[in-house]
Amino acid sequence: MENLKEKRRRAKQIFEKLDPLYTKEKTALKYRTPFQLLIATILSAQCTDKQVNEVTKSLFKKYKTPQDYLAAPISQLEEDIRPTGFFRNKAKSIKGCCQGLVDLYNGEIPSSMEEMLKLPGVGRKTANCVLGAAFDIPGVVVDTHVKRLSMRLGLTQNRDPDKIEKDIEKLLPAERWRRFSDLLIYHGREVCKARKPDHIHCAIFKLCPSNSI
Ligand code: SF4
Repeated sequence: MENLKEKRRRAKQIFEKLDPLYTKEKTALKYRTPFQLLIATILSAQCTDKQVNEVTKSLFKKYKTPQDYLAAPISQLEEDIRPTGFFRNKAKSIKGCCQGLVDLYNGEIPSSMEEMLKLPGVGRKTANCVLGAAFDIPGVVVDTHVKRLSMRLGLTQNRDPDKIEKDIEKLLPAERWRRFSDLLIYHGREVCKARKPDHIHCAIFKLCPSNSI
């Protein structure tokens, strides 16, 4: 059974193998402000970043502040975000979140996890994403890829995203948390796919206990 020190060493090696392979420019969601990132993150559920970027190109020109989203009829907002899928739920989430921003924080993005989590529809994944981009607050973003890869890589025994977040935080220094999440996301999309992980072409094959699943 691997102890914490060994697991940390392996996490460091995984980081260093993957880091040069995935350039930062590949960070897929496009945004200029933390508020835009918040909206893009809500839209990205069950949708590719490419498709989200297509939609936000015109969306961000039309809606600039939380108040703009609140002023629009929900049917109009649904139409504007329709190509991202699940548009009714997403429109509702955007409205709820914008209402929270206006009611609780004067329309500004708050700077702590605790405050972010008070916004309707905002979970730790979205909060970590936005806090990292807006305020450089380190955090592990656990999406479906990070969850799958950290389990396959034996970096966690947990299935619950909040617990996985804590497990990964123990393995790497804070300044690497965000980048490590991004690396697992890219690697999950390109190589270690959910249905058919490409072990043979995997750069971290030797560091992975699941290299023959
Ligand atoms: S060896 Fe296979 S399971 Fe492990 S990270 Fe690579 S692709 Fe995924």
